[in-house]
Amino acid sequence: MAFSGFHGNEDVVNRIREMLARYRFPHAVILSGPAGSGKYTLATMIARAMNCLFPPEGLPDFCGKCSNCVRIGELEDLDARCAEANEAREGLKEADKKETRLFIQAHPDVLVIPPDPPQMMIKVDQVRRVIESIYFRPAEGRERVFIFTDSAFMKEAANSLLKVLEEPPEFATIFLLAENPGELLPTIRSRSMVLALHSLSLPEIEQYLARHRPEWKPQQRALVARLSEGAVGRARTFDLEAYSAAREHALTVLRTALRTNEHTDLFKITETYRAGAEGREKIEWLLRCLYSLLQDLLFLESKSADLVRNTDLRAELERLSQAADFEWLTLAAERLGEVERGLRRNLLRSLSLDAFEAALEKG
Ligand SMILES: [Zn+2]
Repeated sequence: MAFSGFHGNEDVVNRIREMLARYRFPHAVILSGPAGSGKYTLATMIARAMNCLFPPEGLPDFCGKCSNCVRIGELEDLDARCAEANEAREGLKEADKKETRLFIQAHPDVLVIPPDPPQMMIKVDQVRRVIESIYFRPAEGRERVFIFTDSAFMKEAANSLLKVLEEPPEFATIFLLAENPGELLPTIRSRSMVLALHSLSLPEIEQYLARHRPEWKPQQRALVARLSEGAVGRARTFDLEAYSAAREHALTVLRTALRTNEHTDLFKITETYRAGAEGREKIEWLLRCLYSLLQDLLFLESKSADLVRNTDLRAELERLSQAADFEWLTLAAERLGEVERGLRRNLLRSLSLDAFEAALEKG
């Protein structure tokens, strides 16, 4: 593991390494970019490069094996670490729970500050903890690193952060990760350097998947690249199996609604949808697939075939589009939205696929 393991945005990564080489790395950096573009991964990589005990020769990098690299590397799975921290807090007594804010720490010099539930915002007590520790020299590394994983700050928290940014110590770096840096106070932005990561192109994501998902067929990689909209993180963790199953069901719903096959096929799969959390997730996937297929049919209908995302279903989509016209597609998307809203108001009710089919049925 090294900077070479970071996919895309080479210009930004090179600039970072050059700044590290010249000891000109800014004390406050806003890493901006769409969800899944690698903001957090890159921040933890920089933290490792700053603190690696046996850095490789050449431009600054990290070995991935020393005790500093290993511990900072444990932070990489942000979702898992957040879930653990949350669980630990849930285990506290009610009174302590209110006082305890969310932090993630695997190395004494690197602190990750995620948005605090239930509001999912950075709170003033979290910034206070940063202020309390930032002026102490690093314990086991060379640089103290603080990573705020979200740009949603409560007002008081933002004002406290501003005070730290006015005079940060020599040996500390603060990262602010932001999908939209405009959410941060202008005074915070003006005291930070903004490094912008962009989404990756389709071929870049397919290339990445060829390396990380060799078990997928090229056609599947092309599909996932299109579905993850330039976000490399989303592409890597894409649940292709769940998606494929849901899409098969969505196709059955559409075929039935357009009367290109028998109602009994729909009946068979309806029984596999149950109430409760698991059923919810399945329904979410199904909805996503229904929308995606309807949109592809619209693309075909409006002669924009190059925009079709479910490219591997091309022949089937062509067949379905014979039975669907523009008017039906628009109406179907609207009715689907109504069923979806009804479902959200009534979360616990189990839902039969027939409701979707009925909504889409051709009059
Ligand atoms: Zn190392």
